Amino acid sequence: MKENIIPHSYQVSKKDREEKNKHKSFLIWFTGLSGSGKSTIANVVEQELYKLGVKTYSLDGDNIRKGINKDLSFAPEDRTENIRRIAEIANLMVDAGLVVLAAFVSPYRKDRENIKAIVKDVNFLEVFINTSLEECERRDVKGLYKKSRAGEIKNMTGISSPYEAPQNPDIEIKTEECTVEEAVNTILNYIKPKLK
Ligand code: ADP
Repeated sequence: MKENIIPHSYQVSKKDREEKNKHKSFLIWFTGLSGSGKSTIANVVEQELYKLGVKTYSLDGDNIRKGINKDLSFAPEDRTENIRRIAEIANLMVDAGLVVLAAFVSPYRKDRENIKAIVKDVNFLEVFINTSLEECERRDVKGLYKKSRAGEIKNMTGISSPYEAPQNPDIEIKTEECTVEEAVNTILNYIKPKLK
């Protein structure tokens, strides 16, 4: 079947869309433990980009796990498939000319490498939201750590499932050492030149 799929050559390209939007498109990927601050920071970064007239879209567990990936669990192979599908969706959105913000725990290094392969290196920025497990557990935004300690959740990253921290992220944010505003400024300062 695959050999009969021959791509059609469309006349409107990514480059055309970027020129129309007056900015480049790429994927900003936030990785970190649950409760580390990925969504909080990504959300404010998106608001700031919106104010600058940048066309954006945010992907997170809420809009992905409840829709296209609702058939997937948190078992390692399903986590890999979860990230692969998100990367493919993000890739289409980047092609559509958007700056995509994706906030997912994405605990496995090989899965994050795969995102880079799908969207291509130049379109990928990795932001490591580095918050200690102790602090995430103290915040326990969704009550998941408590449930996990009580044995009610399997495969909880940081507790009963590993988190492989990025070795060379584009940006590292230590939320125990800075405010949300400072984190957002660090990220904006890094990405603003890349929009041009
Ligand atoms: P995640 O998306 O990584 O699971 P959330 O953004 O949902 O995490 O939750 C992070 C929690 O931590 C929020 O309640 C947020 O208000 C709090 N928080 C405290 N300090 C910071 C900080 N410096 N940066 C980001 N979040 C912070």
